Amino acid sequence: MAAKRDYYEILCVAREATVEELKKSYRKLAVKFHPDKNPGDKEAEEKFKELGEAYDVLSDAEKRAAYDRFGHAAFAQGGAARGGGGFHDPFDIFREVFGAGNGGGMGGIFEQFFGSGGRGERESRQRGSDLRYDMQITLEEAAEGVEKEIDITKLEACAGCKGTGAEAGSRVVSCQTCNGRGQVVSSRGFFQVAQTCPRCRGSGQSVERPCPKCRGESRVEQNVRIKFKIPAGVDDGSKMRIPGNGEAGIRSGPRGDLYVVIHIKEHEVFEREAENLFCEVAVNFATAALGGDVRVPTIEGPASLKLPAGTQSGTVFKLRGKGMPVYNSSARGDLMARIIVAVPQKLTPEQRKKLEEFAELMGDELPEQSKGVLERVKEFFHG
Ligand SMILES: [Zn+2]
Ligand SMILES: [Zn+2]
Repeated sequence: MAAKRDYYEILCVAREATVEELKKSYRKLAVKFHPDKNPGDKEAEEKFKELGEAYDVLSDAEKRAAYDRFGHAAFAQGGAARGGGGFHDPFDIFREVFGAGNGGGMGGIFEQFFGSGGRGERESRQRGSDLRYDMQITLEEAAEGVEKEIDITKLEACAGCKGTGAEAGSRVVSCQTCNGRGQVVSSRGFFQVAQTCPRCRGSGQSVERPCPKCRGESRVEQNVRIKFKIPAGVDDGSKMRIPGNGEAGIRSGPRGDLYVVIHIKEHEVFEREAENLFCEVAVNFATAALGGDVRVPTIEGPASLKLPAGTQSGTVFKLRGKGMPVYNSSARGDLMARIIVAVPQKLTPEQRKKLEEFAELMGDELPEQSKGVLERVKEFFHG
């Protein structure tokens, strides 16, 4: 086992020191070696941990008795003491010692020792809320990507106090309602109930003279215009994060994020399934029979499709790469065009004449597939 310093020596107290003496010495040393006061100093950090460990053991009568009898061996693995050698987090111990009543709240002590740059102030800052904005776009916009501009009303840092909540020249002081603790304790019958301090909202701090513009809140509601780009290929329900565009933080705390939820309007021609698009294309029956070029709508404008002679209604043609772009990739989906052979509802006298001639030429003849269907119908009734 590596050599460890004696706990009494670490705390600079005599072996017969009282709990009060231990506490007093711990306080003095822990403040001296606290990492907030010695940023980046590894040695101070080690000392701070060591102090926590020593205090943890010696402040507990049972652990102290075991330590007095067996030394460090009492807390080695398999040792006799309670807790199996595990120690508390040195920061918890620190908070416990300083947070415990009598010496004014934690905020007070931190301010006293660390000045305004200490932990107390950092805790009064709070991250701003995230916001959600629901936005409808067209399928075309989703296919191409689009830049959007929105106006929203949200909490922004107050310009009057630059987000501090204090009038110019006014200092930040410990909250008087909660004594800087951020919590107030009230008695309800036998119970003591701790609640977030209503005056400082848990920050433990207040300002001497609050900023008149934001009434000390450090933020005010403002109408803000936000520009952002929706990437090509977004899907319905996509959630885009726009960092830093949520609400401003309390007292210059970090900003929240804005989440834009994309809703894609139904399209009158296309249906979408992931990266593929589907549409129907009506062709007249002569073109279907003879074959030829037909115009097919695509999301990027009309395209041409060569229809083979004898195309049946319901046939689906795949137009490769004419679907939606795939988000974050150069790939594209396909367009499935379903051919619908349209039967004319009105005919000119000339069309009618020609069609009658055509019918005469055809006689009872039916295309292959249609014959199959008819045969089966006959079998059903007669067979
Ligand atoms: Zn203000
Ligand atoms: Zn308070």
